[in-house]
Amino acid sequence: MTNHGLETTLAAVWRFLRLETEEADFEKWLHGNPELKTSLGDDLYAEVISTNFKRRGDIESLRKQLRRWAIGYQRTECLCNLLKDSDSRGLGYMADLFKAKMKRLACRTPWIELWRCRPCAQAWLLGTDTSWDVVLFQRVTDAEVSAVLNDDDWPKLVVDPKHIDHLWPSEGWLRVCEYEDLEDWRRRDGQPELGRLDRANLLSVNHRQDVEKSKVCGCYFCLSIFEPTHIYRWIDEAMGLGRTATCPKCGMAAVLGDASGVTIEESFLREMRGNWYPDKTDGVPPSKSTRHSARLEF
Ligand SMILES: [Zn+2]
Ligand SMILES: [Zn+2]
Repeated sequence: MTNHGLETTLAAVWRFLRLETEEADFEKWLHGNPELKTSLGDDLYAEVISTNFKRRGDIESLRKQLRRWAIGYQRTECLCNLLKDSDSRGLGYMADLFKAKMKRLACRTPWIELWRCRPCAQAWLLGTDTSWDVVLFQRVTDAEVSAVLNDDDWPKLVVDPKHIDHLWPSEGWLRVCEYEDLEDWRRRDGQPELGRLDRANLLSVNHRQDVEKSKVCGCYFCLSIFEPTHIYRWIDEAMGLGRTATCPKCGMAAVLGDASGVTIEESFLREMRGNWYPDKTDGVPPSKSTRHSARLEF
């Protein structure tokens, strides 16, 4: 792995800040990748690389500097970066804070659901555990999202086994609530709440094949319409290839191509914008630096 584009560096730094990476591994990573200089800038890189990992104080100051740097690039108003790949938050206020910018895409049981963050597009498997009063959050990939939505094939919620038992409705619960069985619950109340605009939103990530086949593309943030050949920056890299297009005009990852089966015209883009970016108005640049803002173009 030699590709340390900005997105990759940010992901690794957030992992370190969330205490998901061992300090020794992070040190090795820093020293093994001189190209980090491009992402971090000369000054910060020089400081970072001179950190003495044997000194607690040095590590703490490294964390502080990297946090400041990463937050500077925090391009969304969501809190996804604060969640580990597998994490939990107290049921109620705390979990609701994290869910505030997310949209539910599908339900497996009354307790296990698939959500996607609107601003950053990260998908999460959520498990509500009413015995321990926590909501479990587990990062899932776009491939896992497709498997759920297309084939009802759910990733396993990997948590402490003592939690998982409570996440499945018991026969008693189903009976009390007058469901014959889980299938009955899913038929009657567990239907995904996916509307037309939600489906279109899903088509704006991990869509390189569609975009490249499209005759015309449009951005539902700035409403510009353009040919796919004008796209010059792709994000969500896998194997060195960006999978999600960003708009050549405004830099947002809010691009749809007609080969995805949507009609690219201003009225539709405007409708999408009203749903996903309700605060955006014509001619006004994004108020805060948002995930895919143009400042990342440099
Ligand atoms: Zn997010
Ligand atoms: Zn745009």
